[in-house]
Amino acid sequence: MTQITPQPGIMDIALYTGGKSTVEGVSNVVKLSSNENPFGPSPAAQEAVRRVLHEMHRYPSTDHGSLRQAIGEVHGLDAGRIICGVGSDEIIHFLAQAYAGPGDEVVFTEHGFGMYKISARVAGATPVEVPEAERVTDVDALLAACTERTKLVFIANPNNPTGTMIGQAEVERLADGLPPQAILVLDGAYAEYVEGFDGGASIVDARENVVMTRTFSKLYGLGGMRVGWGYAPAGIIDVLTRVRGPFNLSVPALAAAEAAIRDTAFVEKCRAENTRMRTWLAEALMEHGVPSDTSCANFILARFSSREEAEACDLFLQKQGLIVRRVAGYNLPAALRITVGDEASCRRVAHVIGRFKAGER
Ligand code: PMP
Repeated sequence: MTQITPQPGIMDIALYTGGKSTVEGVSNVVKLSSNENPFGPSPAAQEAVRRVLHEMHRYPSTDHGSLRQAIGEVHGLDAGRIICGVGSDEIIHFLAQAYAGPGDEVVFTEHGFGMYKISARVAGATPVEVPEAERVTDVDALLAACTERTKLVFIANPNNPTGTMIGQAEVERLADGLPPQAILVLDGAYAEYVEGFDGGASIVDARENVVMTRTFSKLYGLGGMRVGWGYAPAGIIDVLTRVRGPFNLSVPALAAAEAAIRDTAFVEKCRAENTRMRTWLAEALMEHGVPSDTSCANFILARFSSREEAEACDLFLQKQGLIVRRVAGYNLPAALRITVGDEASCRRVAHVIGRFKAGER
C-alpha cells in the first residue's frame, strides 16, 4: 500500500477550468469565455516574436531587465520594484508561497478570482471567502473577516467576474484598516480597460503593505504567452524574487510583452473599441430583459432570472456557436459572463440572446 500523499489541503483544490473553445458538432464558434482581446496580439508583438525565433537555444534573461524597463517607462513606475511572472497567476502564487503557510489565512471576496483560493491551498494556508451583497467588493466585510492570522487580502479591481469596481478612497480605507501583518493585493488584470486608472500604483507607492498585480493577457492580447507582473515595495520584491524561478519567462514571451506594451496606438484602439462595444452590448441585452451591473472591464455579467434560465441560455448560445462562461463556481449561478468581442460577435451574441428570451430553444 502506497504511503505517498500530497500536502494537506491539496486534494481540497477544485480544478480550475478555463473557458471552453469548442462545441461538439458546431463549427465556426466564437469564443467569448476567457476575456481575451478580440483583436488578437499587436502586430508589433508578433513581429518581435518572429525576430527572436533564432534565439530559442539561449536561456532567457533572468532579471527581465528590458521588459521591466519598458513597463516602468510606460506606466511611470520604478522598474526596480517590478517583478514579472508567468501570467499574473504566478505573481499571486509567489505571494502565497512567500507570505502564507499552515495556520495563516488568505482573505478574498465571494465573487473573487479563483486563483486566490488555489494559491492559498497550495501554500497550505486557509482560504477565507467573504460574502458580498450586491456583487461589489465590500470593504467593511473584508476588514471584519481579518484576524491576527490574516496574511494576504486579495481584491480584483475591476473584479472578475462581476466587472464592478470600487473607488480609490475605498481601497485606501481597506489598506489602512488591515492588521499590521497583512498585505493587500490589488489585482489589476482589467485595470487597463479603465481610462486613466493606475491600477492602484499610487496606493502601493504610499504604503508598505500593498502590492499590485497586472497582466498582458487581456488588453495586450497575450494570454497564450503567459506574462504578468507585480509592483510592490522594494522589500516585498526582494522576497518574491527569491521565490521566483530564475528563467520563468521564455524568450518569445519577453519579446512579445515588451513590444506589446510599447505599441500604445494598438492599446488605445483596443480600449476604445472595448468601451464602445461594452456599452452597446449592455444596452442591447437590457432591451432583451437581461440586466447587468455597470462593467469596468472587457466582459459583462449578464443576469437571468434563475440558474435554470442561465444554463438554458448557455446551451442555446452554444448551439448557435457562441461560447460564454458559466460562473456558478463564483456563487453566481443565475449569471453568464460574456466577453466583449468585436462588433460582429457582440451583435451575434445579443441577437441570439434575444431569440432565447423570445422563447426559442
Ligand atoms: N486576475 C484576474 C482577476 C483574472 O481574471 C485573471 C485571468 N482570468 C488573472 C488574474 C490571471 O491572468 P493571467 O495569469 O493570464 O495574467
